Amino acid sequence: MITSELKILLIDNSPEDRELLRRQLMQDSEYSYHFFEEETGRRGLEACETIRPDCILLDYGLPDINGLQFLAELQDGAHTMPFPVVMLTRGDEAVAIQAMKRGAQDYLVKGKMTPESLHRAVHNAIERVDMLRTMDEQQRDLEKKNQELQAFAYALAHDLRAPLRAIRGFGQILAEGQMERLDEEGQHCVQNILKASIQMDHLIDDLLSYTKIEHRAVRHEPISLDVLVMQIVRSLLARLSDREVEVTVPGNLPVINGDPTLISQIFINLLDNALTYRRPDVKLEVVISCEIEPGAFVIRVRDNGIGIASRHYEKIFNIFQRLHGEEMYPGTGIGLAIVKKSAELMDGEVWVESVEGEGSTFSVRIPQ
Ligand code: ADP
Repeated sequence: MITSELKILLIDNSPEDRELLRRQLMQDSEYSYHFFEEETGRRGLEACETIRPDCILLDYGLPDINGLQFLAELQDGAHTMPFPVVMLTRGDEAVAIQAMKRGAQDYLVKGKMTPESLHRAVHNAIERVDMLRTMDEQQRDLEKKNQELQAFAYALAHDLRAPLRAIRGFGQILAEGQMERLDEEGQHCVQNILKASIQMDHLIDDLLSYTKIEHRAVRHEPISLDVLVMQIVRSLLARLSDREVEVTVPGNLPVINGDPTLISQIFINLLDNALTYRRPDVKLEVVISCEIEPGAFVIRVRDNGIGIASRHYEKIFNIFQRLHGEEMYPGTGIGLAIVKKSAELMDGEVWVESVEGEGSTFSVRIPQ
């Protein structure tokens, strides 16, 4: 919002140039200006703190730090440029481009400015920064709300555990000791209570894993994929009784840089799915690989299972999104959301390619 009196900070060591800027800005203006003037970059930075100007007109060629250094120090870690800045150059395009990249809103060439171009530059700069600030605030608001929601989900899942344990425990007592006293319908009910409580237990476990990964610092350390993948494959295969599964792991998986917990979560969930969504009449084949690209590595888990229609490629990564009923394939709809979040926490991405009825390949690219 542009108020009627604007605080303008002129940072320029030439008194004549400052005088010209003042005159041009005041010419035919519907606004009134309050001018503050500094001759060096350092003094200018200090003045920003005390004055909190509505706009800064910054000469590139200052006697101490240059205009680009000034911008870097002014921003210093802030999301958006804290103040609108219009850079004044002597016509050097490269400087102007650099200034814009570093957060200046506009630039003007000294000697070619008109009162109109100066007016336009100053007012556009103020409006743009105002808009960016609003967007920044909304973004931070959204992030905060998201964090609150995650904390709520975590607390809820955690607190549901104790009553669930009681339901499951008493159900088990009934199933183990009291079944003969129940008629057929009673027995059926007890079995359903147990089945539902086991399913809910999985749901709570998955929900806790999902919310937990957000609440820890991401580590970057060398991980020997050979060792990690073999451990995970062994423990998952131990779960399967049949021999109709062939998992191929290349012998020379690389050492990568990443967060061991997140990388494990990616493999566990992708492999778990590969073992779950198999075709009943076909020997299951799973192939794991890892390719090194310039600046990144790509993990792949390929299966010859039931496959996924391309219209579902995006949505399966959303939490609770499942394509099958619990009866057909057990699951909670959280696994791929964990994979996606794990990849994103390491600045990576995940995607799927698949042919329905033939198999799927899940790929995760993590920058190094
Ligand atoms: P869950 O497996 O618990 O349902 P996920 O988030 O891991 O949850 O997966 C979401 C959905 O994506 C699954 O319900 C399934 O329909 C589909 N899906 C995931 N992995 C595969 C796969 N390897 N082959 C076929 N479908 C898959």
